[in-house]
Amino acid sequence: MTSPKVLISRKLPEEVIAYLSEHCEVVRWSQDGFMPREQALAMLEDIDAVLTTSLNIDDEFLRHAPKLKIVSNISVGYNNFDTAAMKARGVYGTNTPSVLDDSVADVALALMLASARRVTELDQLVKQGGWQRGKLKEEDLFGLDVHHATVGIIGMGRIGEAIAQRTKFGFNMNVLYYNRNRKPDAEEKLGVQYRTLEELLRESDFVVMMTPLTSETTHMIRKEHFAMMKQSAFFINISRGQTIDEQALIEALQEGVIRGAGLDVYTQEPVDPNNPLLSMPNVVTLPHIGSATAKTRFDMAMTAARNVLTALQGQTPPDLVNELK
Ligand code: NAP
Repeated sequence: MTSPKVLISRKLPEEVIAYLSEHCEVVRWSQDGFMPREQALAMLEDIDAVLTTSLNIDDEFLRHAPKLKIVSNISVGYNNFDTAAMKARGVYGTNTPSVLDDSVADVALALMLASARRVTELDQLVKQGGWQRGKLKEEDLFGLDVHHATVGIIGMGRIGEAIAQRTKFGFNMNVLYYNRNRKPDAEEKLGVQYRTLEELLRESDFVVMMTPLTSETTHMIRKEHFAMMKQSAFFINISRGQTIDEQALIEALQEGVIRGAGLDVYTQEPVDPNNPLLSMPNVVTLPHIGSATAKTRFDMAMTAARNVLTALQGQTPPDLVNELK
């Protein structure tokens, strides 16, 4: 019997490749970056499983892959899946929940602290020789306290809860949340308080966007929402760039509607070097690194590989996404 064939569209740790190779024939992209879509499409004819973070799994993709049983995303977000098309063809779709929660929550805190205490801006000031006695007024260096401030988390899921835990118990913050469904367990365990979206935006010193990207959450935060925020508040986006109207954020920052922002995600990635957000000193910009530590990325790749092998053994993979259950 021939081994099932797995296509891997990005570089993965050798240990994960070796694990998959024990059971499968592996075809992989071993350069930096991601396998281009056209190249993937040309190879799909006899592929049983795909591991990816970047390929859009739509009708065209599925038409090229008559043997495909599973697409295993090496990420928790799966906005690259056309779940209706996958369901129609009986293709499993999986993600890698839980193993990255703490790493992503750490970056949310990093963005809050860096933007409010002006870490990147003042780092530049020091390195460029601007820290000179007599040249700066005391208040030129002032930021906003993070401790004891109010944070509003939009999307109280696994990562939202990890952010709530840090902000509540590490920084003594008042933690508000807005979610599609109310979370009584989180309210009890973490002492977080439910608010409507509008109430959360009006009351928070920090607004953290943490929902998945879906048709419901696309441009969920727009001009009118930034207008509801405090003028002294910071907006943190670590979900997906398209959950907010980025142009509206740019204008809110340019017009002083809010004080600053911390961003890990953008409408276009990699972000356009001419994007005005990149030249704003009150905006901290990271290159989509929420889960980017060697350990977490390894755990994500292993989780994704296990999902593939389970599906190829004829069982339901553990991390099948909700829409395909
Ligand atoms: P999760 O556990 O599924 O949590 C998502 C939460 O968002 C759930 O509580 C869900 O509510 C809520 N939600 C969904 N749609 C909503 C809506 N229309 N309005 C209000 N709330 C809504 O997911 P997670 O593991 O925390 O991850 C969240 C997202 O973070 C991922 O999908 C991914 O896009 C992003 N992410 C980014 C990075 C990065 O590197 N920047 C890394 C990891 C994840 P219900 O429970 O009521 O459905």
